[in-house]
Amino acid sequence: MEQAEQLSRPVVPALDEILGTPFKVLDDGFIRVVDYMGSDESIVQAARVSYGKGTKKVSEDRGLIRYLLRHQHTTPFEMCEIKFHVRVPMDCWRQWIRHRTANVNEYSTRYSLAIDASQKTSSEEWRLQSKDNKQGSEGFADTALGAKLTVQEEELQNLSRKIYTERVELGIAREQARKDLPLSTYTEAYWKVDLHNLLHFLWLRMDAHAQYEIRSYAKTIGEQIVAKWVPIAWQAFLDYKVHASSLSLMEIEIIKAINSGNPAAGIIKAREFGLLPPEGEEIKRNRERSDIEAKLESLNIKIPWK
Ligand SMILES: Cc1cc2nc3c(=O)[nH]c(=O)nc-3n(C[C@H](O)[C@H](O)[C@H](O)COP(=O)(O)OP(=O)(O)OC[C@H]3O[C@@H](n4cnc5c(N)ncnc54)[C@H](O)[C@@H]3O)c2cc1C
Repeated sequence: MEQAEQLSRPVVPALDEILGTPFKVLDDGFIRVVDYMGSDESIVQAARVSYGKGTKKVSEDRGLIRYLLRHQHTTPFEMCEIKFHVRVPMDCWRQWIRHRTANVNEYSTRYSLAIDASQKTSSEEWRLQSKDNKQGSEGFADTALGAKLTVQEEELQNLSRKIYTERVELGIAREQARKDLPLSTYTEAYWKVDLHNLLHFLWLRMDAHAQYEIRSYAKTIGEQIVAKWVPIAWQAFLDYKVHASSLSLMEIEIIKAINSGNPAAGIIKAREFGLLPPEGEEIKRNRERSDIEAKLESLNIKIPWK
């Protein structure tokens, strides 16, 4: 029988150092690491099972991790797991919990009294409805209006807590007494996820389109925790996902046409794809075209129809 290969458990001193330390998020929320398994090394170790030892000669660990991420060879990233303890307002948690590829155990308000803390909004923090993006916000309400809303918020939170407490004291079951607590009430949970699915969560929730509150948690997880846990994978993720951009067929064809030396060719291509109306007709709002324009602008490409 062959002698068993000696293995040592991967440890990440930078993560061990912050194990259990809560990182504050929002006014009264936090996130902390409870436990973890694996490191950058575990990603490499798993990948080498599939690629064989020969690869080791030609690729360094860093290069291999970056190759895996670039080519969506995702399963080696699933070899790393992390368990968090989070404290988060219920409306934010409702978005968070949509990520089905994690293991969750949440504080029970049937079993225990609801946590006596609600997310508070200061007078400068009230965001205005975005005009372009129905799901988004832009700018802030002026502080006089903000101050009024903050007072109202406090009254509402105090009243709902008072009624909740009265119901409980009158013997009403906690499972029913809680029904009128606001979504700003904090909840707590254990959330365990593998690195592949965590990066997917971070990609969606660190993005500017995600709501500020969940974005705050995602940024903390990414920048304060994942960056320390798996620094090579984190950097590859920033390079190839977060700050990367993909081009659609339409975008490739339009860019090629613009680069042909004849800017009008870009307009003709955009017309062919139905992004612009026939010549002479009014250019109407078009979400797809706006997204393409934003991408061209980010690449410093002059848009010929603007
Ligand atoms: C900016 C933004 C706006 C959003 N707006 C809304 C909204 O208005 N309404 C709303 O309901 N939701 C909304 N969502 C939630 C969104 O639709 C997803 O449910 C959420 O982001 C989870 O993503 P996911 O399914 O990729 O992640 P996970 O559930 O973690 O799944 C990860 C991946 O696993 C695979 N997978 C998991 N489960 C299945 C399955 N059952 N079948 C097939 N593949 C599966 C998929 O490839 C998936 O991408 C929004 C999300 C974002 C980021």
